[in-house]
Parts: sequence; C-alpha cells; structure tokens
Amino acid sequence: MGDELIQILPGVPSAPVRPLGEACADVVDEGRHEAAANPLGRRFYLETIGCQMNVHDSEKVAGVLMGRGFEPVEDPEGADIILYNTCSIREKAVHKVFSRLGAIKKKHGDKIIGVLGCVAQQEGEKFFERAPQVSLVCGSASYSRLPELLDQLGAGNRRVTGLGLDTDECFETELTRRDNPFRAYLTIIEGCDKACSYCVVPTTRGPERSRAGDRILEECRRLVDAGYTEIQLLGQTVNSWRDSSALGLSFAGLLGRVAETPGVRRVRFTTSHPRDFTPDIVQAIDEHPALCDQIHLPVQCGSNAVLRRMLRTYAREEYLEKIDCIRRARREISISTDMIVGFCGETEADFDESLSLLDRVEYDQVFAFKYSPRPRTPAGGWVDDVPEEEKGRRLAELQERQRQIQIRRNHALIGREFEVLVEGHHPKLAQAVGRTTSNRVINFAGAEDDVGRYLNVRVTAAAPNSLVGERVTKE
Ligand code: SAM
Ligand code: SF4
Repeated sequence: MGDELIQILPGVPSAPVRPLGEACADVVDEGRHEAAANPLGRRFYLETIGCQMNVHDSEKVAGVLMGRGFEPVEDPEGADIILYNTCSIREKAVHKVFSRLGAIKKKHGDKIIGVLGCVAQQEGEKFFERAPQVSLVCGSASYSRLPELLDQLGAGNRRVTGLGLDTDECFETELTRRDNPFRAYLTIIEGCDKACSYCVVPTTRGPERSRAGDRILEECRRLVDAGYTEIQLLGQTVNSWRDSSALGLSFAGLLGRVAETPGVRRVRFTTSHPRDFTPDIVQAIDEHPALCDQIHLPVQCGSNAVLRRMLRTYAREEYLEKIDCIRRARREISISTDMIVGFCGETEADFDESLSLLDRVEYDQVFAFKYSPRPRTPAGGWVDDVPEEEKGRRLAELQERQRQIQIRRNHALIGREFEVLVEGHHPKLAQAVGRTTSNRVINFAGAEDDVGRYLNVRVTAAAPNSLVGERVTKE
C-alpha cells in the first residue's frame, strides 16, 4: 500500500522468533546459531523507513541476525550496529534516510552503520561517497547474506556490499521475527516486471520472482501453529503471482487454499495490479469467508492520456470494468487505491478526470502522492512540468474530495454491526481499537484483555478515517 510509515523494531520481541523456511544456500552452514568469531559487538538497532514490504523485510532481517546470535536493541545508544531499512519510491523518503544518517554520524560515527533496502540498491557503491560513515550497503535480495557481510567487517574490511538481484533467497530466510502478534506478513512474489514509467521498484527490487505455492501453504500452516489467525500476502503486484510448484494454483486458487488452512480466520493481500485482476479473485472472496472483503487496486490517474504515459497497461474504462466486477460481488467489498497527481504533462483536464474517477468509484480509502521524479526511470528523464505548488494544490483538492466521500460512506455505516479483531487498547481512555475485515478501524469501550479477540461491535459514530462503536458480543 502506498502510505509511508516509520517503524522501529523494539528491543524486546513482542512475539517469539519463529523458525520459518530453510537455510539459504550461500551462507556457511557450520555454527549457524552461534555467534561468529569476530570482534564486532553484536547488538543491532534496526529502523524501517518505508511501506509494508519494508516492514516485513525488516522482520526477516531481524530474524536472520537473531538466528546468528545478534541481539536487537531499542535505541542507537545501546547498539554496536545501526541499520536503516529504506524506501526510495519518492524523493522525500530518500531525504529522510540521508538526514537520519547525518544525525547519526554526529553521535555514533564510531559504530557500524549499514543501509538496507531500496535506497541501498539504488545508490549501490556510490553510497560510500555520499555518506562515508556508512560501511555496509545491502539490497533486499541479499538479506540472508547479512551475517556474512558483518563478519567481513569484523574481519577488517572497511566496506561491504550485497547488491545482487538475481536470487529468490529473499523468500526462504531461516528465521523471521514477526512484530505484529496477530497479523503475519507473507511475501509471495518479489520484484516487478511491469515497468511503470515513474517507478523505481523494477530497478531496486529486480524482476518478478514468485514463491512456490506448496512452500507458501507450508508457511501458512507454521504461522497458524505459531498462533497467528490473520495472514497478509504481500507483493508489489501480488496478483501477478504464478505457481511453479506441482500444485499449479492460480492466484485465486492460492487465496482459496490459504483461506481454507485450519486456524486461519482472515486473509488479506496487497497490492493488486489492475491488469492481472481477474473475476475469479472476486469469486474466491465470495466463496471463502476468511478472505477479507477488502481490495487495494491502485489506479494512479483517471486520465487515459496520463495512464498511457505512465505505461500502466490499462485504460480508465478497463479499470472501471474491474471495479464494477468487484461491486457485483455478493459480499460488500471495500476498495482502496493509490493516486499520483502532477505527473509529467498532467493538464487541469487530466486532473479533473482523476476527481471524476473518485466520484464514480467512491473508494473507501485513497493514498495520494505528488509525482516525484526518480533516477533510472523512463519518466526521470522527462520534463517535470507541473510546478511543485500546483502539485500541492491538486493533492489537497483530491484529498478533500475523497474526505467528503469517506464522511458520506462511513456515516452510512452507523447502526451496522461488524466483527473486529481487537488490535490494541488505550489504557487512559479505557478504549479498545478493532479492525473489520473491510479494514475499517472502530474504537469502543474496552480493556487490555480484549486485545487479540474477535468481537462484534455496532457503529455509533463516524469520522472520515475511523468509526466509534459499542460492543455487542457479551462477556
Ligand atoms: N505495485 C503497486 C501498483 O502497481 O500500483 C504500487 C507499489 S508503489 C511501492 C506504491 C505507490 O507509490 C504507487 O502505487 C504509486 O502511487 C506511488 N509511487 C510510485 N512511484 C512514485 C513516484 N515516482 N512519485 C510519486 N508516487 C509514486
Ligand atoms: Fe512500480 Fe508499476 Fe511495478 Fe507497481 S506495477 S511496483 S507502480 S512498476
């Protein structure tokens, strides 16, 4: 999903480290779970600057390191190694990484500082020139090599890199530490072959690699055994997944099989690409109660002229056919999207088409962004001709239009009853926070021991981004 978030992995695991998958081929097998004999301190601090994919990548990184005897800590002060897992989707996120590095240099210049993820992949070895305090640069396809890279630093190497992209090791990490006690993220497809003209993902995450269906189902069973009831399947284009296993499942078939895994109560998947969005996905949602009634289907823009320049491979009309298919489902499915405003050559009339698309679809949520030119993308070489101020104005107008839609849609839910999974509580307010299968957040009177339970709640009031309710489930 498009929202940027920053998450800091806490020092004390909120959930136990769980064994998942197999060892990766190119890591030395001996002494796998023992501290390597290097003089490096082994306490690491890991901060995520990015999307859900980055958050889950950080869970894998933490798992890999903890499996080799490294110990996570809550703040840079207590760490020997400081790692940033980064996103380069927009320039703002990249700035954030460099400003974090500037601040850390002043206080922690004597420590090992490493940059992981998309910014690392994008900058490669140039990173060492731009930020000399950094001694480790590692892209997402090479995380299983991290202990080896740290050992190389311990052995006296000043700078090390892991920048290969032609691997599917990224799926089979030995250990994954999951930080959400209820929802387990599970990557089913890495990279992207779609080549949208504005996007860095194909460069930073490499070509599409699907994980085998039988391995995904095995991991699901392990996640249930570990106590998870909600599984979120992840991929930049999750529905472009193709099965290389003997099961020969379609994406919709995989959804059905995950939903049927005994013990799984909720299954989400993100992000779907409109071109590969087929009616059997909607049919699967209708047939399997565990599949959440929520679909994130990024449109990016309402104008065909802009969609063509973006190389999105569908027209507005085709996109709307997919939306109509979702609306015809027996279940009421909530729909969210991503939109970019101010792309190269976007006229006022093009922008109006994005606004009219909001009215036509009536999304439940929209993640909107100002276009940000990225290096090594086709559009990066085009004239970025919509002025920054105008991009800001269009963004604000689009967000306000969507806010009005959400007010209307959420208001219509007052009086209705929903099952929520309680994900948290505010002790001071004596309030619990639950999430519906349609991904709506409901606040209601509750206590700590409600957390982790599935309860029924009736909506009593509505705001654009959340609801207030009262508990219906009796104690
Ligand atoms: N694969 C997904 C898809 O096809 O829509 C999106 C993945 S991307 C990580 C998340 C969102 O970031 C995109 O949907 C797009 O709206 C936004 N985005 C990507 N590149 C951008 C850019 N150069 N400037 C502004 N927003 C961008
Ligand atoms: Fe980027 Fe397009 Fe691939 Fe999504 S589909 S990750 S926007 S290139």
